[in-house]
Amino acid sequence: MPRLGDESGTTGASFGARALVLADVLAESSDSPEYLACTYMTLAHRAVAARLREWMRIAGMTASIDAVGNVVGRYPSERPDAKTVIVGSHYDTVLNAGKYDGRLGILSALLAIEELHRTGRKLPFNIELIAFSEEEGVRFSSPYLGSSAVAGKFDMSLLPRRDAGGYGLADTLAAAGFDPHAIPALARKREDLAGYLELHIEQGPILLGEGLPVGVVTSIAGAVRYSVVVTGTAGHAGTVPMQMRHDAAAAAAELTLLVETRARQAPGLVGTVGRLTVPNGAINVIPGRCEMSFELRAGEDAMRDAALADVLAGIKAIQQRRGVTIDAKEVLRSPAVPCTPRIQKLFGDAVARAGITPRLLPSGAGHDAVMFDKLTDLGMLFVRCGNGGISHSPLETITAADADIGVRILLDVLVNYQS
Ligand SMILES: [Zn+2]
Repeated sequence: MPRLGDESGTTGASFGARALVLADVLAESSDSPEYLACTYMTLAHRAVAARLREWMRIAGMTASIDAVGNVVGRYPSERPDAKTVIVGSHYDTVLNAGKYDGRLGILSALLAIEELHRTGRKLPFNIELIAFSEEEGVRFSSPYLGSSAVAGKFDMSLLPRRDAGGYGLADTLAAAGFDPHAIPALARKREDLAGYLELHIEQGPILLGEGLPVGVVTSIAGAVRYSVVVTGTAGHAGTVPMQMRHDAAAAAAELTLLVETRARQAPGLVGTVGRLTVPNGAINVIPGRCEMSFELRAGEDAMRDAALADVLAGIKAIQQRRGVTIDAKEVLRSPAVPCTPRIQKLFGDAVARAGITPRLLPSGAGHDAVMFDKLTDLGMLFVRCGNGGISHSPLETITAADADIGVRILLDVLVNYQS
């Protein structure tokens, strides 16, 4: 019997080659004819969900779509009292997306479970493969809609929220045939869970740079974000002498370099000024006001907060020296989520058994796994991203050989998992 994604009609194709074929099939459904976009509850999004449900059934699972649009496949244990290991990632995408962000994790688990089923192997725990409906936060500006529901953290106050076209979240769900009031009941019970596993494309250049196909995630970075207004004194660009100026943009530039310089001082720490504007700026006017943002991320909260303290102290110094006012407001603070040591070890051992040096690395990007923090043991495997590590772009690439290693390691971890 041909296996999922095996176009050759034989049983010759590798897991990795098949995963890439299946990712191509999913990418045929898009909100746009010009690029890949699969945002929450669009026709393309529903088509992808239906396809995943069909594939899960072919792979030997019972499968259904829940009230928030997650596709849930179940590969039961033979033990009636068995706990459940969730393997998940998301099937929604950003606009103008790559084909593997989120989906590689779903397809890798799908092929691993198909292999268990094909070889008649049952495990001492149930596996739930969950293709989460929403992680990117594109349509309703709120990420993790799918995984938050399963983790019992869905925010029901989001239901009246509207998308850019004016459609409400609750109405959108109802129009697609879903009952938003059934979402709280999707929460899994802590005592039923034996862990959460996620495979994901790295979305960065570290593994590529080191020549490694996979890496074991140690933690998912937390972030602090600040919104900043710098107020100086506007003036004539030709008449005000340099030593008498209070230039808001020059102060903002200094702050930008401070964030960069401080973030460079510790490996695993990153700092970014993503917004930087001179509202109504003109070429012959000294900037009187500058609006900007900065964020700091690290795999450890203490490292991040030490950097933040230095940046805030620097802001004070810039204000005094330049005679400007800098109003910096914290707009987001999310803690780093550590991956459970025993699951890091399980992944590391499986990587070593595959003949690869286990490389531990933090994740700078958020993932569905963060929703399972403090609910159950969790761990992640990264697969090398090609093309310089570009992601959230059609330039995102992965090789069949790397995808193959990812599926094999996931399968190894499942088989050796201690629930
Ligand atoms: Zn993702």
